[in-house]
Amino acid sequence: MKMPICDTCLRSNTLCKVCKEKLKKEEITNLDIELARTLYNINRNYNLGDITFKKSVESGGLIVMIVGKGDVGSVIGKGGKIIRILRRKFNKRIRVIGDTDDLKNLVDELIYPARISGIDIVYPVSGEIINRIRIDKISKDKMPAEISIVENVIRKITKKNIKTVFE
Ligand SMILES: [Zn+2]
Repeated sequence: MKMPICDTCLRSNTLCKVCKEKLKKEEITNLDIELARTLYNINRNYNLGDITFKKSVESGGLIVMIVGKGDVGSVIGKGGKIIRILRRKFNKRIRVIGDTDDLKNLVDELIYPARISGIDIVYPVSGEIINRIRIDKISKDKMPAEISIVENVIRKITKKNIKTVFE
């Protein structure tokens, strides 16, 4: 398993110097640590295989976990059994998505089964760059969370300037 904290810290309730430094520099969060330790414990009962858990973001009761590209299925588990354990423990909605640098792929996975119809790059006079994400308005009711929460999560993951519209 590849986790945001080292093996020793996965097994204990304290953090080593290196992992503590990562937390201090905000390279990792307390939520990442808690999720990593939970996955580690789950793995002792259910073999999750060699999964990678990169990081997590949270907004408005929704936790999004970013895992290795091919690891989404393993983290969700057969029939959703792993995700159910996580949901029960954290008492939040949890979404698992594969790591990607591509904004469209990310939003695709994040909002599924709602559908994205395209992304335009907009250059307003302020000089900033805005990624305008168009979501198919027919699929509006299928969004996994309120639009403000989804926008927040996308910003936290990508650090990009984004704006969503239904059309
Ligand atoms: Zn450590």
